[in-house]
Amino acid sequence: MFKSIQTKLVLLFILVILSVMLTVGTFIITNVTRFYYTDFMSQIGTAVFTEEFVPQLTEAAESQDGDERLSELLEAASGRIGVDSYRNYAILDAKDGKLIAASDELLTQVEITDNILAAMSGRVGDTVVENGTYMEYAYPVMVENEPTYVIYVYETKEELTSFSRSMFLVILQALVVALLISVVLGYLLSKTITKPIKNLTSRAQKIADGEFEVGEGSPSKDEIGVLTNTFKTMGQRLSETVQEVASQNTKLEKIMEYSTDGIVAFDTEGELLHINPSARKYLALGEDETIRFDEFFTPIFSDISLGNFLYLNPDKQLIKEGDYNNYYLRFYFGSFRYSDDTIGGVIVDVANMTESRKLELSRREFVANVSHELRTPLTTVKAYIETLESGAVDGEMQEKFLDTIHRETDRMTRLVSDLLILSRLDNGVKLNLTRMHVESILKDVAEKMQFEAKKKHQVLTYTPINEIPEIALDYDRMQQVIINIVSNAIKYTPTYGAVKIYSSYVSDNAIIRIVDNGMGIPEKDVKRIFERFYRVDKARSREQGGTGLGLAIAKEIVNAHAGEITLHSKLNEGTEVVITLPVEKSFRTHSEESEKTEESIAGEETEESATEHE
Ligand code: ADP
Repeated sequence: MFKSIQTKLVLLFILVILSVMLTVGTFIITNVTRFYYTDFMSQIGTAVFTEEFVPQLTEAAESQDGDERLSELLEAASGRIGVDSYRNYAILDAKDGKLIAASDELLTQVEITDNILAAMSGRVGDTVVENGTYMEYAYPVMVENEPTYVIYVYETKEELTSFSRSMFLVILQALVVALLISVVLGYLLSKTITKPIKNLTSRAQKIADGEFEVGEGSPSKDEIGVLTNTFKTMGQRLSETVQEVASQNTKLEKIMEYSTDGIVAFDTEGELLHINPSARKYLALGEDETIRFDEFFTPIFSDISLGNFLYLNPDKQLIKEGDYNNYYLRFYFGSFRYSDDTIGGVIVDVANMTESRKLELSRREFVANVSHELRTPLTTVKAYIETLESGAVDGEMQEKFLDTIHRETDRMTRLVSDLLILSRLDNGVKLNLTRMHVESILKDVAEKMQFEAKKKHQVLTYTPINEIPEIALDYDRMQQVIINIVSNAIKYTPTYGAVKIYSSYVSDNAIIRIVDNGMGIPEKDVKRIFERFYRVDKARSREQGGTGLGLAIAKEIVNAHAGEITLHSKLNEGTEVVITLPVEKSFRTHSEESEKTEESIAGEETEESATEHE
């Protein structure tokens, strides 16, 4: 009830008015009462018992009929004494206090008060008795220095009381009016204070709710006006700061969201603070799924624990790698600190290393394969040369040995030259593109390979199904591809088999098909057949002089022409290799290439010719 400032202010007004009025009232009434007393005393003391009157009194007292003389004297002075219904006098015997005469005829006895006693002992009794019913003045009439009579003037306090009462009533009325005024004024005045405060409160509430509207300032120069203006400035600053923080947050969130690295943050309790979409993907976590640090990471890496980062090695970063959820992931673990240097928790960066890992593995495999491929012929050659050197072989054997050395050296040369081709293709060698009909390549190859086919009594045919528009091709490289595939078909098809080449133009694509009815390839090997060094039957391939690189090279060259190569095969039934070359694209590539050639700097050509010389 007394919570609002308005009520408090009104109450304050009332209290102030009450205390002021009470003080003033008490002060006035006390002073008026005191004035009454002093007025009574001075009136009686100075105006009645004057220097002329006192000797008259003494003289009257000394006479024999003192009682009567005194009565007459006082009666005569009753006007001066001011006898009325309130004030009276009495003449008492100073020895026993007996009433001799009184202005009030009804009075029969006088109560002996302290003042009367004082007069009876010879002193003027003019002590103010505040609680008594009368104001009194007792004067001793002395005869030969002995008090004989006491003139006792007394006045009831009725007049004073009634005056005080009416004064009290006036003060009370004034108090009521003042209170009413103070309530109204207090209410109105406090409203002028509370209204801006209420405004400020509602503004503060809005700010607390996150609405940073700046609002109006105040023209007033008082404390509340200053506060309102300060509030306005504060609102502006707050709004700016919040906006800045929000935009930085958004920026950070966006960076996190689009980061290909997974980022996960945990607090010092190991509870998840933040996780970005990449991390969810790598760690196979659902959209709302949550994890705890130790529960998640310790089972994966036994030496990773929250305590280790928070207490043992807070400034150390740990890197861990491993397969997880079909990815090869690299985890960077480290603690992070807040601006006051306290540790905030642990942050984990999850990098997807799957591709680079694959590359690394294939590079290692490739090096191993090359070494292996070279070691076999080298060992053979070395052994044969050593045998020859020992001179322990006759002429016929010598020739056989030399023949083998020759064959193996040829194979190594082929291997090295195939590797060189692959390496150039890997490095993005420029194709020497020319517009031509693909049929011309196929016709040339079919003619060239007739001899090989005939050696195995095979039929090698080329059938163009429909006419293919000109395509931009690197003649030598494409011819190499077709020769490779056709020679494979001849190699892996028994004698009396058939190798057929077809060409057709379908949906803007040139389709080249090389079909044989040879030994075919088991299904499980087909999908890996374009890999480097992949062979179905290693021994037989080597026997045939194959390097295991032919199809890999073919794929690289076809892809460089923006085309595709596929292989379909059935064991013991035959194999079909299909090359698809886009005609449209080849032109675009061609035009781009020719533009490039025109613009090309001499250095590029020099590089190409240098490579050729190699
Ligand atoms: P290679 O030099 O060994 O012939 P390739 O890359 O040309 O290497 O071929 C890879 C492997 O694919 C061969 O070793 C062979 O086993 C198989 N292969 C290729 N073409 C045919 C085909 N037409 N019929 C059967 N197997 C084939």
